[in-house]
Amino acid sequence: QLSIYEMLEQSVQKYPHRLAVIDGLIELDYVRLKETVDAFASVLYQKGFQKGDRVGLMLPNSVHYMVSYYAAMRLGGIVVQVNPLYQTSELEYMLEDADPKWFICGRNQSEKLERVKKFENVHVIFTEDENGSNQVLLKEKVNELPPLNINPKEDIAVLQYTGGTTGKSKGVMLTHFNIVCNIHQSGEVVAPVMVEGEERLLGISPLTHAMAMTNMNNAIRTAATYIILEKFNATRVLELIRQYRPTFMVGSPTMYIALLNHPDLEKYDLSCFKICVSGSAPLPVEVIKELERKTGAQIFEGYGLSEGTTSTHRTPLGGKRKIGSVGVPIPGTVSKIVDMETGFEEVPVGENGELIIKGPQVMKGYWKKPEETMLTVRNGWLYTGDIAYRDEDGFYYISGRKKDMVIAGGLNIYPAEVEEVLYQHPKVAEACAFGVPDAYLGEKLLAVIVLKKGESLTENEFLSWCEGRIARYKIPRAVEFRDALPKTIVGKILRRQLVEEYKTKLQ
Ligand code: ATP
Repeated sequence: QLSIYEMLEQSVQKYPHRLAVIDGLIELDYVRLKETVDAFASVLYQKGFQKGDRVGLMLPNSVHYMVSYYAAMRLGGIVVQVNPLYQTSELEYMLEDADPKWFICGRNQSEKLERVKKFENVHVIFTEDENGSNQVLLKEKVNELPPLNINPKEDIAVLQYTGGTTGKSKGVMLTHFNIVCNIHQSGEVVAPVMVEGEERLLGISPLTHAMAMTNMNNAIRTAATYIILEKFNATRVLELIRQYRPTFMVGSPTMYIALLNHPDLEKYDLSCFKICVSGSAPLPVEVIKELERKTGAQIFEGYGLSEGTTSTHRTPLGGKRKIGSVGVPIPGTVSKIVDMETGFEEVPVGENGELIIKGPQVMKGYWKKPEETMLTVRNGWLYTGDIAYRDEDGFYYISGRKKDMVIAGGLNIYPAEVEEVLYQHPKVAEACAFGVPDAYLGEKLLAVIVLKKGESLTENEFLSWCEGRIARYKIPRAVEFRDALPKTIVGKILRRQLVEEYKTKLQ
C-alpha cells in the first residue's frame, strides 16, 4: 500500500516530462513538481517540522496548495484543510479544534490572522515574502530530508473539515490508506476511458474540499495534467476549456448550472470532454439532460461525503445508466439501506431508509470527537445521515439528508425531491426548498428561487404551475424570488442559512 507521496513518485518515474500542473503562467512537469515539493519539504524540515505535525493550508486553488500539500505528505505531516474564506470566528474554532503547529497562507490573509490571538503559537509561513518573492515555489536545490516514514494504514494524512452544511464542521481524520484507496476505487470506474499519462483534468472546485482534493490526487496518480482555476468563474472556466481542451472535469451542480446559463455558452466548443462528473449535492435531472445536449460529454453523478473520503457511489461507465440515480457502490464498497429509527434492519427495495456504507475509504474517525465517531461509525459501517432508496437493479437514489427532512402534518417531505420538480420550470435557474416550524403543521415547506436572467414570474403563477406536478402536501407553502442563494465554498446551497433566516423572520 503506497502513501500519497509515493503515488506522486510513481508518476514522476513513469512520466518525468509530462506536464503535471498548469496554474496561469506557471507550468511544472512531473520532475519539476517533485523537485519543488522536496525543496519546500526540506525547508520545513530545517525549520523543525516533524512527522505528525499538523499544518493548516489556507490557500486558494494554486500550485502553492499542491506543493505545500505534497511537501507535508513527504514529511508525514497532517494537512488541515482551511477554507480561505474563513473569517475570524471560524478560524478561531478551527485553531482551537485542530491546533495546528504550522500554517501556510497568502500574505493577503495576514490582517485576518492578526485578529486571531491563537496564532501567537503557530508557525505561519506566507506563500510570498515581504518583497513578494515566492517562498513555496523555491528555485534552490533540495537540502536534507529525513527518510520517508509513513504507515499508510495508521497515519493521518488529512483533517478534512466537513462542509458545515448542516451544523458546525467536524474534522474528519483521513489516513493515507483512505485517500489512496478511494482514488483507486473511483479511478477504476473511469479506467476504460482515462488513459494514463494523457488526460487533462480541470480543477474548478476548491482544493480545501474533499472532492477537489481527490480529483487532484487522481490527476497525479494517472500522470494527468492538472489545470488549476483559482476560483470558480463561469467565463474563466469556458476560457480555460478553449485554451487547454481538458478531457475531464469534476464540479458541483451549481457550477454546471452556472456554465449552462452563461450567455455565451454557444460560442464555446465543449466537445473536448470525455466525462463531466458532478458530486457534492443532487444534480437535477433537467440539468443533466441540458448538459448532455450542450456538451456531448457523458455526465456522471457521483455521491460521497467527507467521512467516506470523497466517493462511495458512482454512475457505472458504459453499462446501464439511470438518470437521477447516483449509481452503484464503487469497487470495494458495500452499502445498505437500513431502518431510519433502529439503524439496523434493511428496508425493502424502493423504500427510504438511511444509507450506510462499508469500505476502505471510511474515515478513521472525527478528530477529538470520540462520541460522535461512535455514533457515525458502527461496526465498521458509516452512517451517512442521508436518506436513500435502492431499486431492483441495485441503483441508489438519494432522497435527502435526515436533518433536512421536513415533517409537515405528519407527512415526510424530502426537499431535494421537491427541488427536482421546481427545476423543471423553464424559467428556474436555482431552487432551494426547506422546512420551517409551523404552529399548525409542525413544519412547513418553503422555497427560494433564482430565475434565469431576464425572466419574471409571480408566486401565484409558480405555485399553480406546481399543481398536478407534485403531491399537494409537497408544494411549498410560499415561494420567494431572489437574485442569488447562499452557498458553501464548493457551491453547495446553504439550506441551513435560509432556515435560520426564515425562523427569525417568522418569530
Ligand atoms: P456537514 O456534514 O458539515 O453538514 P457537508 O454536507 O457539506 O457538511 P460534505 O462531506 O462535504 O459535508 O458533504 C457530504 C454530503 O453531501 C452527503 O452526506 C450528501 O448529503 C451530499 N451529497 C453528496 N453528493 C451528493 C449527490 N450526488 N446527491 C445528493 N446529495 C449528495
